[in-house]
Amino acid sequence: TKTAISELLIDGNVLAAKALARFGIDRMFGVVGIPVTSLANRAVSLGVRFIAFHNEQSAGYAASAYGYLTGRPGVLLTVSGPGCVHGLAGMSNAMANAWPLIMISGSCDQKDFGRGDFQELDQIEAVKPFSKLSVKAKDIREIPDCVFRVIDRAVSGRPGACYLDLPSDVLHQTIHQSEAEKLLEALAENFEKKKKEVTDSVSNSDIEKAVSLLRNAERPLIVFGKGAAFARAENALKNLVEKTGIPFLPTPMGKGLLPDTHELAATAARSLAIGKCDVALVVGARLNWLLHFGEPPKWSKDVKFILVDISKEEIELRKPHLGLVGDAKRVLELINKEIKDDPFCFSKSHPWVESLWKKSKDNVSRMEAQLAKDVVPFNFFTPMRIIRDAILGVGSPAPILVSEGANTMDIGRAVLVQTEPRTRLDAGTWGTMGVGLGYCIAAAVASPDRLVVSVEGDSGFGFSAMEVETLVRYQLAVVVIVFNNGGVYGGDRRNPEEITGPFKDDPAPTSFVPSAGYHTLIEAFGGKGYLAATPEALKAALSESFSARKPAVINVIIDPYAGAESGRLQHKN
Ligand code: ADP
Repeated sequence: TKTAISELLIDGNVLAAKALARFGIDRMFGVVGIPVTSLANRAVSLGVRFIAFHNEQSAGYAASAYGYLTGRPGVLLTVSGPGCVHGLAGMSNAMANAWPLIMISGSCDQKDFGRGDFQELDQIEAVKPFSKLSVKAKDIREIPDCVFRVIDRAVSGRPGACYLDLPSDVLHQTIHQSEAEKLLEALAENFEKKKKEVTDSVSNSDIEKAVSLLRNAERPLIVFGKGAAFARAENALKNLVEKTGIPFLPTPMGKGLLPDTHELAATAARSLAIGKCDVALVVGARLNWLLHFGEPPKWSKDVKFILVDISKEEIELRKPHLGLVGDAKRVLELINKEIKDDPFCFSKSHPWVESLWKKSKDNVSRMEAQLAKDVVPFNFFTPMRIIRDAILGVGSPAPILVSEGANTMDIGRAVLVQTEPRTRLDAGTWGTMGVGLGYCIAAAVASPDRLVVSVEGDSGFGFSAMEVETLVRYQLAVVVIVFNNGGVYGGDRRNPEEITGPFKDDPAPTSFVPSAGYHTLIEAFGGKGYLAATPEALKAALSESFSARKPAVINVIIDPYAGAESGRLQHKN
């Protein structure tokens, strides 16, 4: 009967699971154990998919990418102490990339804190540098409100990581089901209201100024990044580019918002585009190291930046000519609306547009000449071309590409083609290595209709190679291609005469076992492994694994002397 149900007691684990499900969480990533195993099981019973990993670091990377791909917070569940510390990798990565994530960790019994309890740690303190908000539920009745706050905060303003601490005594406390329902009900209304809130503060006159700057520019450029991708600004961007004829440049993860093959894409003429533009509309991309801080010599010293960003602090930090604080999609729609009343369009024969187009064409044909050769033993270019063609052959919906490594990522960025939004995940703002497997799992969970293809170095793969078991366990449509050159940057590149001391005969810090059989790792779990050292073998492996849409690892043997140390960032090493 109804009375009987309302008299039922539920514990903190059940209440936390209910609150998460009620506030829209339908996927979780993590590693279970004391005291959160029951929370994961309860969540599953409520219809949440729980993806169980081997390591919280990888689960955290997955949660961060899931947040980016879906626009809703990715949830990472960990145990206390060491589990929470491993999870910091995911939180910090989410913060650096401005992606919404919630880490939920169990913690030790409150009454035993400070006495050396099992897995004891002041977790609220530990997560501080990596979170927008951290809260602890000190009593079971606080759980719904805490869950509500972390979810809300992770996506409001600049997205980022939030933390929820659930002590084991709170998870074991009980309340009546009826009381729990009341607590959740009271918040549900507020939750719906908040979802609809618009917080932009951009004025009409600023929109007019932006349009006038673009209209009067001689060499305008539109730059967009993963913030624009997060805002789902692709249609607004497409309109703007078509209306104005202004060339555009995506950042690495902005690639695909407009197709790389678009005739106004200045990707292949990047240096010229940023070096010579006089007005740059930068949308959802920070003027950080990836964009050379917006400073000379890469940019002209007179360039006028118009920055569109959800974060007021970001605009204040960069001091652009004009800052527009707001959601990328909405701000671009306002700009488009303003242009509509008085349209303008740079023609293809405009000297600026033409110079970029010519430069792109030159650079592309030079690159194609290099790619056309079948070099064996493999350099980076030959297999990359074969992979590019295989990915393009899949058509729409395009595969999600995951990319990490030094040379593998740098060369991949130039060669692999992105045609659809949010189909590229890479080492990102923080240059985080080891994200590959976690990102693959997140992408497959977020977009089950898409194939996921990861192209990564052997070193990136090694960080979390055990997660290939996770791929097999959940039967995810992920093909991991490992560029195996025997180590970081390609194994031992030292001059033997410079190495002395008792350990001089040890393997170099950069080297791994040469010709490692990475493909056999996945076979241990029933997945499919391929070894590919020739174009024929690689083509066959790609063709079979792409059509099977089952977990696979392709071990591509690369000449250890191909590629540069540190890839494109040699000057920093
Ligand atoms: P990239 O690595 O592609 O250059 P960044 O991560 O440096 O991109 O920059 C993304 C920027 O986008 C951040 O400054 C973030 O505040 C901003 N951002 C996030 N969400 C939105 C949004 N909805 N609208 C506009 N800007 C956003």
